[in-house]
Amino acid sequence: MCSQRRAITDRATAIAGGFRLSRRRWLQGCAGGVLLGMIGSVAAHAEGKLPKAAVSYQDHPNGSKRCSTCSHYIPAAKAGEAGRCEIVAGPVGPLGYCIVWADANPKGCT
Ligand code: SF4
Repeated sequence: MCSQRRAITDRATAIAGGFRLSRRRWLQGCAGGVLLGMIGSVAAHAEGKLPKAAVSYQDHPNGSKRCSTCSHYIPAAKAGEAGRCEIVAGPVGPLGYCIVWADANPKGCT
């Protein structure tokens, strides 16, 4: 694993750690309204992936950075359908983006 990918993996791990802490706080003192807002997060946690909110997922690119150029992106079987992500829960579009983006073809990695 090249240093760039290791740094990105470390960053994703740190984000995941923050999510666990937030979830613990939620379990200690949530109210009914918060519970409804967290249903998506709990589902993502059950899937073993991060919820989109935890990685600031957006459905549009960040410049040239987009899911389709990310090393974590798993393309859909059919063209035009949303793909999946190794890290983020739920469907992700090829034009989406999040803060865990990692270049699928980084310079210096073979
Ligand atoms: S940009 Fe984020 S959501 Fe998209 S494939 Fe990469 S890690 Fe997954």
